[in-house]
Amino acid sequence: MALIPYKEALSRLMNDVVCRNETENVSLSALTGRILAQDVCAQFDAPRFDNSAMDGYAVCGLQQQNWLLTDSIAAGDATHGLQLQTGQAMRILTGAAIPAGTEAVIAQEDVNVLDGLLVCDRPLKSGQHIRRLAEEYAAGEVLLPAQMRLNAAAVGVIASQGLQQVACFRRIRITVLSSGNELQVPGCELKENQIYDSNRAMLLAALSDACFEVSDGGLLADDLPSSTDSLQAAARHNDVVLVSGGASVGDKDHTKEALAALGEIQHWKLAIKPGKPFGWGKIGDTQVFLLPGNPVASWVTFLALVQPAVRLMAGWTKQQAEPKTVSAVAEFDLPKPQNRQQFLRGSLQALTGRLSAHIHPQQGSAMLGVCAHSNALIVVPADTAVVRGDAVAVMYLSE
Ligand code: AMP
Ligand code: MG
Repeated sequence: MALIPYKEALSRLMNDVVCRNETENVSLSALTGRILAQDVCAQFDAPRFDNSAMDGYAVCGLQQQNWLLTDSIAAGDATHGLQLQTGQAMRILTGAAIPAGTEAVIAQEDVNVLDGLLVCDRPLKSGQHIRRLAEEYAAGEVLLPAQMRLNAAAVGVIASQGLQQVACFRRIRITVLSSGNELQVPGCELKENQIYDSNRAMLLAALSDACFEVSDGGLLADDLPSSTDSLQAAARHNDVVLVSGGASVGDKDHTKEALAALGEIQHWKLAIKPGKPFGWGKIGDTQVFLLPGNPVASWVTFLALVQPAVRLMAGWTKQQAEPKTVSAVAEFDLPKPQNRQQFLRGSLQALTGRLSAHIHPQQGSAMLGVCAHSNALIVVPADTAVVRGDAVAVMYLSE
C-alpha cells in the first residue's frame, strides 16, 4: 500500500465528512465556543439614539465661551420635551441621550462652572463627543455571520440585540475507546506487564469543547467479537467513535476488521511520522476513526486529522477547522532527512521579536511526556534536512 501524504489525507477526509446540519436554540449563558447556524442581523440601529460619549455638558452655541446651565441628564433619563436654546447648556453623563438643540458636548475636565454658568474658552467642533444614531451599524446589517464560532464579545453583541438565545449547530456526540489487553484503568492496580491507558483520558481532554458532547466508551479487549459488539453499540449512540490502538497490522489488531464487518473502512498508511497507521470509515451515519495506539502518534493524528474533521461535522468552516501553521525560524538542526513528513514536538516562542521554533530532544512516538510541554508541532517535509536558521512551518496548538 502506498503511503499517503498528509495534505492529501487531510483533504480527502475533509471532503468526505459533512456538517450534521441540525440546529438547536442555545441561551446566552451557554453560547461561548458554539457555532452559529444562522446570521445574526441587527434588529435596530446602534446607537439607537444620539448620545453623549463623555461626562460633561451639552451646549448650544459653538462660538460662545459661556452658557447658562438649565438641566441635567443621566444615562437612561427621558429627554422628551427637553430643548437647548442658543446660549444654554445641560449637564450630561456618558450614554445619556442628547437633548434637542445640542451642537456639541464639552468634556467636564475642559470647563469651569461658576454660579450656574458654564465657562469654556477652548474652540469647539460641531458634534464633538456625540455618538450618532446608527454610526456603528444600521438595522438589518449582518452582525455575526452563520458558522462563526462565538467568542465572549460575540455573546455580548447577541445580548445587545435583546436576544436571549440564537440557533447554533447542535453539539456532536463523540465517544472515545481504547483497545488493548495490556491497558489498565487509572486508579486500578497494574497487573504484570500492564500499562495505564493514557490515550483515552488524553483524547477526551483534547475534545473538551463547547461544540462536542463527549463520553467515555471504555476499553476494548483484543478480540474480534467483543471489539465488534462494542463498536456497534458505540456507533448507535454517537456521531463519532474514536478508537485508539489496534489499528495497525499486529496479530491482535482487530478494530479494522470489526469496522469493516459493521460498515465501511478506509485504512491508510500515512506518510507522516509519527502516526503511520490510520483508519476511518462509517457505521451507518456514524463516523469512526481508528488511531494508532502509540500515545504520541495518537495525539498527532488526532490534532492533524481527527480534530479538523470533527470540527467540520460540528459546523465550523473548513478554514476554521483546519490546523493553522505559521512560519518560524528553526532553532535546531535536523541533519537526517526522513521519507515521511515529520511532526516534531516542540515549542513556538516569540522572545526576540521573531517567531522561533524549538524541538524537544526526545522524539520517540511513545514519549507522551514531551507532548505535555509542547505548544507546537514543527512540520518538516519528507526528504528534508533542517539547518538552524531555516524557515520551518509550525502548527500552533493553543486553540
Ligand atoms: P497498538 O496500536 O495497539 O499496536 O499499540 C501500539 C503501542 O501503543 C503499544 O505499545 C501499546 O501498548 C500502546 N498503547 C496502545 N493503546 C494505548 C493507550 N490507550 N494508552 C497508552 N498506550 C497505548
Ligand atoms: Mg494493541
